[in-house]
Formats: sequence, C-alpha cells, structure tokens
Amino acid sequence: MAAQGGETFDVHNPATGEMVDAVPKGKREDAKKAIDSAASAFEVWSERPPIERSRVMLKIAELVRASLEELATSLTLEQGKPLGESRSEINSFANTFEYYAGLVGRERGAHTPFSTGEGYFIVTRRPLGVVGAILPWNFPVSLMGWKVGPGLAAGNTFVVKPASTTPITDLKVVGLLCKAGLPPGTVNVVTGPGSLVGEEIIGSPKVAKIAFTGETATGRRIMEGSAKTIKRLTLELGGSDPMIVCDDADMELAVEGATWGRFRNCGQSCTSVKRLFLFESIADEFTKKFADRVRTIRVGNGMEKHTHMGPMHTQEQLEKVESLVSDAEDRGAKLLIKGGSPKEKGQSRGNFYNPSLLTNVDYDAKIAKEECFGPALPIFVVEDLEDAIKLANDTIYGLGSSIWTKDLERAYRAAERLEAGTTWINSPPISRAEVPFGGFKQSGFGRENGIEGLEHYYETKSIQVLEYGKGKKWKFPI
Ligand code: NDP
Repeated sequence: MAAQGGETFDVHNPATGEMVDAVPKGKREDAKKAIDSAASAFEVWSERPPIERSRVMLKIAELVRASLEELATSLTLEQGKPLGESRSEINSFANTFEYYAGLVGRERGAHTPFSTGEGYFIVTRRPLGVVGAILPWNFPVSLMGWKVGPGLAAGNTFVVKPASTTPITDLKVVGLLCKAGLPPGTVNVVTGPGSLVGEEIIGSPKVAKIAFTGETATGRRIMEGSAKTIKRLTLELGGSDPMIVCDDADMELAVEGATWGRFRNCGQSCTSVKRLFLFESIADEFTKKFADRVRTIRVGNGMEKHTHMGPMHTQEQLEKVESLVSDAEDRGAKLLIKGGSPKEKGQSRGNFYNPSLLTNVDYDAKIAKEECFGPALPIFVVEDLEDAIKLANDTIYGLGSSIWTKDLERAYRAAERLEAGTTWINSPPISRAEVPFGGFKQSGFGRENGIEGLEHYYETKSIQVLEYGKGKKWKFPI
C-alpha cells in the first residue's frame, strides 16, 4: 500500500549501485495507522484456537519455501549476499515458523497449593498485544522470522519496520503471510525512516513490546523512548565475538570455521568471528594456513555463480571498516592480507571490500574494542587459555564466542567462563531455531529462538484461588 503522502524512496543494489526498486516512504501517520490495524486484529488472532494458529504458521512456511528462488534473488539484489546465503536465509525463516508452529498450544502452566494451605494458584500466560519489530539490514528476513514467528505463535499482532536499505524482500514475505490466512491486520509492515516510523512505534502507548536487532546506540535510544510507556523489550545489539584456537585443535576444521565465521555475509553478522586468539605454539602454522585459505575467497556480485563473498551492504559500512583497519595500522598492525583493490578486480561501482587479516594488533586499537562489521579480522597470540579468556572477556559485548580444542573438559570449563550468550565448541557461529540466542553485557537482553524466545512474547498471569471454607475470613480493618 502507498504511504499517505504518496512519497517513495529508492533501494540500491550494493554490488552495482543500480536501483532495485522504490518503496513507500512511510511517516508517523502511516505507522499510527499500522499500529491501529494491529491493535484491532489482536482479539481475532489471539482468540484463534491454537491448532488454527499452528496451521496458518505451517502454511506460511510452505508458501515461503515455494517462493524460495524469487525471495532469495530479491534478497541478494537489495542486500548483496551471495545467492546461496540468501537461499539459506529464506529457508531459515521457514524453519523458524515450522518450529514455533509445533510449539503452539504445547505450553504447560503451574497449579500449586499456597504454603498456608488455604487455596492454590494457577500460572497462565497471555499474549502481550501489539509488538513492534524493528529490523536490521544484515539478515532482514531471518531476523524478522525470529520476532514474528514466536510472537504470532503466542497470539500477538505486529507492526514490522524493515531497515530502509532492505525493505523489498520483507514486503514480499509479509505479502505471503497475509495470503496464508492470517486475519487482516495481524502483521503490518511500514517502510520508512527509523527517525519517523521507528520513533512512532517506540512512543506509541498501543505497542506493548519492541523486538529490535541493530546497533547498540539505537538500542539505547529504544530503551529511552520505551521507558515512557514501560514497554517490554528484546534487544540484540551486536558483538565482538572471540574465537579461541587451542594448541590441540583440529587445525583444518578451525581454519574453515574461522573463514566461515568471519567472511560469511561479508563479515556483517552479529555473531561473526571478530577477534581471533591463537595459542602461541600453533600461531604461525595456523596463520599461514588461514591466510592461504582466505586468499581463495572470490569476491564479487552475489548473483554470480562463483562468488563466495558479496559486497559490503553500504558505502558507509565500508568506510567504518576501512577506518578501523587504518587505526590498527597506525598503531603498528601488519596487514597480512589485503587482497587487490576493488578497481583491480573491475568492481569499482559496488561496495566491495576484500578480506583482510591483521597481525601485531595493539589491544587498544579500535578494531579490538568496537564492533568490526565487515571482512577484516585482527589476530592475537595468547600464552594459554587463561590469557585467552581474559582478553576474550575484555569487551563491552557478550554475544557469541567459540573455542576449538579436542579436550571437551577444557572446552566446557572455558564455556562457563566466557561472558557471552552462546559459546560454540568446535563449530562456526550457526544459529538454530530451537536454541535460545541473545547477549550478555551490552550485546542486549532477552532471548530469541527456542522455548525461551516464546516466553518473551507472553505476560505471566497468576490466578489465586482461596478455597471456600478454608482459612480465616477476611475483614477490614484487620
Ligand atoms: P541501526 O541500529 O541504525 O538500524 C537498525 C534498525 O533500526 C533499522 O530498521 C533502522 O531504520 C532502525 N532505526 C534507526 N534509528 C531508529 C530510531 N531512532 N528509532 C527506531 N528505529 C530506528 O543500524 P545501522 O543500519 O545504522 O548499522 C550500524 C551498525 O550497527 C553496524 O555497523 C553494526 O555495527 C551494527 N549492526 C548490528 C546488527 C546486528 O545484527 N547486531 C545489525 C545491523 C547493524 P533505518 O534503516 O530506517 O535507519
């Protein structure tokens, strides 16, 4: 549907700079209308029998899978990631819906006697109402699924605000949601600037919760704006994930894990490997093998068959990474790999940035302290596990982490001490619908995915029953 003022804005392909499409430029009035629509659909959707909600969600997954190629192509054109990664993302959206469809109506409550014996209480759950889902551009579709999937399963309705640089595929997916039999108004999408559409959602007294993924500074703003109406919040705010490779690690596996972990989605994942810690005794050998592997990465347009890594999403993101790399160089870091310049590869029009590996990095460099959201990785040498864990935890973030060792006892001990919402053992950072995901420290709070993710879309309600004839009679004044 068109925005009320009839304005539109253009969405560009990060690989070519060409316009992909124009979408409605919504403003506050459009967001208000969408919130009202979600509020009036709430009673209808939340009172649908669980079995019907579950069926609609399965139908959504089916329709999304049936449109896999169209949606994946659309995602690559607006986001830049290789087509294979786009297909995985669309499938991941469908997986999330299938997972939560299976949980609808499976909740268990509590029925417990009072400690004083005069009655009992029941604990039930209620959906929250209207939820605002504010989305990032790095995984526009799967992260919409992480919010809308559990939220719909619990009986809530939605206003979705996609990132302004990746609204197209989200609009297409929401179109399929509506075709699958959701009551009108259950999921509404408003495209437009965060400063207008996002702010209206945050400030509205009709919105009960905000589920957000994006930058820490935006997360802070959402907390401030939501304080006025005491909204429930789930915030996923990025990270600076450490990967620790011990002296007994399977080196081939760890090299592949680091390659996948840093360079998938051109390094623009909240759980990308952002700091690599190598035990001293294997550091030289590992670094050499890793550099050889990274040199084989083919950078190019995500639509081309042989591309391993697409462009960065925007020029602004590229400049942020460039500035982190040059700050590290200014402090003495050595650029072990900086592939040919984009021009040499004939890619001057897109936001291409070749994989970069840095050694001799000063731990005070910005690349060690801030989130590096792109394909550049600082490598640090550590004496032992103690040293590695100390440095790994030396960050304001706490989203993911990984440890690579054949000694599982050592791995568990490290996992207990790493300050992160997830620790992967001998695995690259793969998120799964059934596993709770979220941050420690300034990486955010609340959890998405798993049964825990569903809990964040409910209010807990206690019903207390005083059994007739039991206990004392209540009189005022006591
Ligand atoms: P933002 O946090 O600015 O954007 C994420 C979403 O928030 C977008 O939909 C954006 O809308 C919206 N938004 C922005 N301002 C407001 C506001 N005042 N009120 C409500 N919504 C708002 O991230 P960026 O896209 O600017 O990326 C910047 C950095 O954030 C990256 O370099 C990276 O470090 C980090 N990031 C982390 C992600 C993660 O997965 N954890 C994902 C994306 C980014 P609009 O697009 O219209 O501005």
